[in-house]
Amino acid sequence: MGVRRTGGFVLALNPVLCDGFGHCAELAPDLVHLDEWGYPVLTGEPVPFSNLAARESTRYAVRGCPRQALRIERVNLSQ
Ligand code: SF4
Repeated sequence: MGVRRTGGFVLALNPVLCDGFGHCAELAPDLVHLDEWGYPVLTGEPVPFSNLAARESTRYAVRGCPRQALRIERVNLSQ
């Protein structure tokens, strides 16, 4: 059986734009944690598109970020 590829994403941060108020950590607590200064630390873990809950909270975080510092990057996942 071959390797099955499926779509996924990672949440990526542009630290230059980020204001460090940590709104994203409230919106996507499963993907974003804050460091001791309140700046987001992303897990960097690829998330399969089939994970609807994570997709939803990621969308909230990207839309809710006042500085547009977050983006979704598509990745291929091996299973
Ligand atoms: S919501 Fe945006 S600007 Fe605020 S801490 Fe998160 S990434 Fe930074």
